[in-house]
Amino acid sequence: MSDAVSRLAEVKAKIAAAEREAKRAAGSVTLVAVSKTFDAADVRPIIEAGQRVFGENRVQEAQGKWPALKAEWPDIELHLIGPLQSNKAKEAVALFDVIETVDREKIAAELAREIARQGKAPRLFVQVNTGSEPQKAGIEPREAVAFVKRCRDVHGLAIEGLMCIPPFDENPGPHFALLDKLARQAGAEKLSMGMSGDYELAVAFGATSVRVGSAIFGAR
Ligand SMILES: *Cc1c(COP(=O)(O)O)cnc(C)c1O
Repeated sequence: MSDAVSRLAEVKAKIAAAEREAKRAAGSVTLVAVSKTFDAADVRPIIEAGQRVFGENRVQEAQGKWPALKAEWPDIELHLIGPLQSNKAKEAVALFDVIETVDREKIAAELAREIARQGKAPRLFVQVNTGSEPQKAGIEPREAVAFVKRCRDVHGLAIEGLMCIPPFDENPGPHFALLDKLARQAGAEKLSMGMSGDYELAVAFGATSVRVGSAIFGAR
């Protein structure tokens, strides 16, 4: 068994333990294995070990890696977890099953256009900049609920959840709690939060999916 495959098993066991600890149903948290910077040869054993949900942060990198893997394993579910430029909306809609980073009007409009054009609708999350960090993508928390509503009412997009990346130097708990509160207000069911350093905590705060990279694939 490769190191990555044994680390995958470890992460899955820790998620299961965190679900039990939080009195949540077994299997209620989806593991998104973040494979950015790792190539197809690194990803393959993880797929062979049964993992089917993956995350990438760059459209172009994903285009070089995933079409062949998805052809081989049609049940793979690929998530875009990095910032989306509007000139990449076409490629993103074509390749990804879930886009987690809808965060502004222009992207919402562009995605709506591509979904209509391609007749293919990825599931969508709105990214919230819970720490209001100037360099970080995501809608401001105070605008998030209205933005979800505009995505639905103006652009006809089915937003199913919210996503956040807390500031790396802060306790993530309050950010997870804020995302949960905003999701309830927005009527969005799903919460994408928690990474290698804090995914067990995120499960305690109600994450429905966690995005784990280095704890599985190793340091980047
Ligand atoms: C890279 C990345 C992750 C995974 O980070 P790790 O700390 O390696 O688990 C999760 N979410 C996003 C948005 C990322 O870009």
